[in-house]
Amino acid sequence: MNTAAAHSAALLCLCYTHINLSELHPNDFIGLITQYVRLQEGRKVLKGNCPFHNDTTSSFMVYPSKEIFKCFGCGREGGADEFTRAIQARN
Ligand SMILES: [Zn+2]
Repeated sequence: MNTAAAHSAALLCLCYTHINLSELHPNDFIGLITQYVRLQEGRKVLKGNCPFHNDTTSSFMVYPSKEIFKCFGCGREGGADEFTRAIQARN
């Protein structure tokens, strides 16, 4: 049973009418992250260099089952919405 996929499907049923789906890819949290971060597979987490600070030590963790990210370098964390907002604020 792919709980992450089931969770994504459930999220899609919520009202995301104000969000551009093709831009955000809310049904694929990992897909969203990997547009900006090159992720390495771990046991339960994926990790990579944080896009929000000058990171060379892979402080950026992504938890696919919870669809959240957390950076142990700069402390930024959240879900798809927080990630998108932070990316947009960066540019
Ligand atoms: Zn960071």
